[in-house]
Amino acid sequence: MTALVLALLAAEPASKLVEANTVVKDLVVDLRYATDDNFLHKQVYPAGSRCLLLRESAERLAKAADTLRAQGFRLKVWDCYRPHAVQFEMWKMFPKPGYVAEPRAGSNHNRGGAVDLTLVGLDGGEVELPTPFDTFSPAAHHGYTGGTETSRKNRQTLKAAMEGAGFTKNAMEWWHWDLPDAKSRPILDEPLVPPAKQ
Ligand SMILES: [Zn+2]
Repeated sequence: MTALVLALLAAEPASKLVEANTVVKDLVVDLRYATDDNFLHKQVYPAGSRCLLLRESAERLAKAADTLRAQGFRLKVWDCYRPHAVQFEMWKMFPKPGYVAEPRAGSNHNRGGAVDLTLVGLDGGEVELPTPFDTFSPAAHHGYTGGTETSRKNRQTLKAAMEGAGFTKNAMEWWHWDLPDAKSRPILDEPLVPPAKQ
């Protein structure tokens, strides 16, 4: 390639987002908003949606996945990058600050800087955690001392791996993790399905 082409490629902003499972090879992707199995009971992502994240988020996730693999776990993602347009739709359906980000300010999910996930076994089998995804109750808080000992231990294992990889927790949602400076990243509006396939 010529120097000019290389320079253009280097400058190419194209997508700042990468498919997380190309970076974390054994990632289990179960995007709940691409189904109606979510708290809205409505599919708000198109079928065939990908788990997109900023490359930095995906690389940190790979680090957490390495730690967890050695302990007999894999990561399963429930939500990754969320197009800004979808944030407005979700807000219309569920305008509850603290659980759905006000769309004009934007969610860190709209920046590719947040990910919702859980643990599964190496075979992809279910692992006990304190609550299902998007449970808006004290049982989903990191400080929750109820539930089973196993669920609390697994929550702690996940937390240690995610914090070890440089993510910041959300005190009210054990499954939600942010890049520490996610708020300073730009809001993006990229398609979840590549345009050619839509
Ligand atoms: Zn989240």
